[in-house]
Amino acid sequence: MYAPFATAGPGPTTSSQHEWGPKGPKWKREPIRGWHNGLVKVTAPFARATIRTRIIWTIFLVASVALVTSGAAVWMLDLRSIHDDIDNRLVLTRQELRRLAEEGIDPATKEPLTEPAQTLRVYMERSVLGSGEGQLGVVEGAVQWVSAEGIVLRPEDDPELVDRLLAEAEGDISTITTIDTARGHYRVLTVPVTDGNTTAALARVVDLNTAEAGLWRTMRIYASAAAVTMMLVAALAWLGIGRLLRPIWELRNATESIDERDLTTRVRVRGHDDLSALAAAVNHMLDRVQRAVEAQRELLDDVGHELRTPITVVRGHLELIDPDDPDDVKQTSELVLDELDRMVALIGDLLDLARSSQSDFVTPEPTDIEALTLQVFDKSCALGERDWQLGGCATGTTELDPARITQAWLQLAANAVKYSEEDSQVVIGSEISGSELFLWVEDEGIGIAQEDMERIRLRFARTAQATRYASGAGLGLSIVDSIVQAHGGRIAVSSEVGRGSVFTLRIPLTTADETRSVQLKESDKT
Ligand code: ADP
Repeated sequence: MYAPFATAGPGPTTSSQHEWGPKGPKWKREPIRGWHNGLVKVTAPFARATIRTRIIWTIFLVASVALVTSGAAVWMLDLRSIHDDIDNRLVLTRQELRRLAEEGIDPATKEPLTEPAQTLRVYMERSVLGSGEGQLGVVEGAVQWVSAEGIVLRPEDDPELVDRLLAEAEGDISTITTIDTARGHYRVLTVPVTDGNTTAALARVVDLNTAEAGLWRTMRIYASAAAVTMMLVAALAWLGIGRLLRPIWELRNATESIDERDLTTRVRVRGHDDLSALAAAVNHMLDRVQRAVEAQRELLDDVGHELRTPITVVRGHLELIDPDDPDDVKQTSELVLDELDRMVALIGDLLDLARSSQSDFVTPEPTDIEALTLQVFDKSCALGERDWQLGGCATGTTELDPARITQAWLQLAANAVKYSEEDSQVVIGSEISGSELFLWVEDEGIGIAQEDMERIRLRFARTAQATRYASGAGLGLSIVDSIVQAHGGRIAVSSEVGRGSVFTLRIPLTTADETRSVQLKESDKT
């Protein structure tokens, strides 16, 4: 039964069947100004954290954003669906009340409904309200009827709501609106019913807090589940990333234990992934560093040893010099100057060898082979009285350092002169075969024994026969070898003791185009 509103006095009670319808480095930095400054300050501790912490924070952040975004999307869609549902049901209520007013017959008694207030009462009596719903009957600007007892939502208990409802009900158009009061948060429908003389209005109220309670409960469960998920993600990420980064820590420990005194330690290479490739690359780098450091040490030892001899010789002669004997002074000064010249030449050679490990040791440029051959031949002729012959002359252009190749080639020619008799034949020539350039010097000198062939390339290495024949430091071929290697080539030697030797510089032709140009010219020649 419908209870009359206390302030409005007793009145007719109506009810109707109602259907409800439907989210710092050491260097000085330039000061960073503006928002960048703030960003740097915020991210600075992150930048100092370990890689493991940074990755975990990143995963944590990404997972949080994903969970919050999906939660917010679900919340917004659900909230919208709840509100749409409420509005659809309010629209249905309006349609039912209007239909009743148009028909003008009480469905229960079949009596005609003569007044708007009567229509309103009949409708309210027949209404079945859901939980969180309430209603008021307003007649001539005052609350006439309230919901029956047992209905939980009582709009009449919220004076602020009643005032707003009366204001909404004053007009002659139906409205659906949201009203927030100190006590609650409501969705409200007002439907005026009028016969021209009197006006009644239904105010149907839906408590949005009750309607949304289920959604909020779900969201709280979602938030708890998300928090647990995040903790699980963080724990698994901590373990997984630790496992993944272990090779990097091993790499770091291994590289930290390596210094210039001990370059023999190597990193353990496990598996076939990127990190094992990195470990292998570090090992290769260490191999190269070790070779370079050992080469430098050997060079220093050799230099110390080789320079000590001329210095000892100079010192010995100067100690024994008789300053009152002009002949002795002259003789000693000639000898000392000779030794000093030898030292200067030696230092020059050693510098060349030291430079050979630097990247700018050779600077290749397109070079005309024919011109280079003729120049070297001309310069060689001045090296000594020999029967100089031009054995062959390749034509074309290739990439090489003409100055360094000339230096190497002339060194071979100088050796040919040094280790051969006067007027013997020395042949100089160049040739292209396949993808290689051959630059050679052939002599009729003392030759080299088979067992010395490999050794003579080494620094300060000399054959016993050569030591008896001529003086030298044993650095010439080492420099030639460095120059040829810097061009990606090698030295080939063929020799017979007592008959002579052929030293050939074999240099690969660099690019396909140049090779072709050289070969074309060769074929043009024939
Ligand atoms: P150096 O000539 O000062 O001894 P090199 O490095 O030029 O130093 O030569 C190394 C060694 O190779 C020589 O000592 C000699 O034994 C051998 N050698 C080089 N060129 C010839 C050559 N044309 N004929 C015979 N032996 C040679």
